[in-house]
Amino acid sequence: MTILFHEIVYGPVLSRRLGSSLGVNLLPYDGKLCSFDCIYCECGFNRDFRTKTELPSREMVYAALEDKLQALCGKGMKLDVITFAGNGEPTMHPEFADIIGDTQQLRDQYFPHTKISVLSNGLHLNRKEVFDAMRKVDNPILKLDSAIDETVRRIDRPNANNYSVSKQVERYRLFQGDFVLQTMFLRGRFEGKEIDNTTEEEISAWLALISELRPREVMIYTIDRETPARELEKAPIEALQEIARKVRELGIPTIVAG
Ligand code: SF4
Repeated sequence: MTILFHEIVYGPVLSRRLGSSLGVNLLPYDGKLCSFDCIYCECGFNRDFRTKTELPSREMVYAALEDKLQALCGKGMKLDVITFAGNGEPTMHPEFADIIGDTQQLRDQYFPHTKISVLSNGLHLNRKEVFDAMRKVDNPILKLDSAIDETVRRIDRPNANNYSVSKQVERYRLFQGDFVLQTMFLRGRFEGKEIDNTTEEEISAWLALISELRPREVMIYTIDRETPARELEKAPIEALQEIARKVRELGIPTIVAG
C-alpha cells in the first residue's frame, strides 16, 4: 500500500532509524513531488501521484509545527527528532531555508534537546540557500544508493538528464564529513532489467566513495513496505550486516535497518 502523508506535521512515530520522530511534510498532501522517482518509493511512482494542490506556505508550516510542539510539550512527551521527509523531496520547497530557520527557533523554545533531521536525495544542494540550510540542521541525511551512474538511473531515476554520481558526490564533499549517508539496498527486476546494488562490484565502488567522503554515520536499510515496482525484494539481513561490517572497518559508525 502506498503511503501519503495528509498533514503538514504528523506523528510522533517510532522510527526504525531515528527514534521518536515528529514528521514534517513540506510537499502536497494529495500527491508526491520529487526530483527522483525511486522504484522503491513508499509514496509510489511520480506519474501515479501528480498533485493538484499547492505546497504549504511557510506560515502554515510554522502554525502547524507550533501547535503540535505546544501540545506535546504540554503533555510532557519525549521527542528525539523533528524529521523533514513526507511526500517527496523537502528541499524542493521554495521556502525550505526559512522554514528550517523557523523550526530551529520553535525547537529551541519547546524542545531544546530535540534534533532536526532532513532526509534528502541531495539533488538540490547546488542551490546555495538549500546547502546553507542543510549545513545548519543537526542531521542532514543524504541519499546515495549506488556509486555507479547506471544503477542510480535504474533505482532512483533522477529527473535531471545531466545527473551523475560524481556531481552528487562533489556536493556531499562540501559537508566535510559532517553528514549522514543513507543507502537503500535491494534486489529484483524492473522493466525487464536486473536490479542488485549488493554485488561485489557495487559494494566496492560504494565503499570507495564512503572512504573518501567519510560521513559521520552511514545508515543502510532495505525495503520495509510494499514498493511501486512489484518485482523487488529485500536485501538479506546477512548481506546488510556484511556491508555494515566493511563500513565499520573504515572507522565509520553504521546503523542497519533490516
Ligand atoms: S528520493 Fe525519497 S521521496 Fe523521492 S522518489 Fe526517492 S524515496 Fe521517494
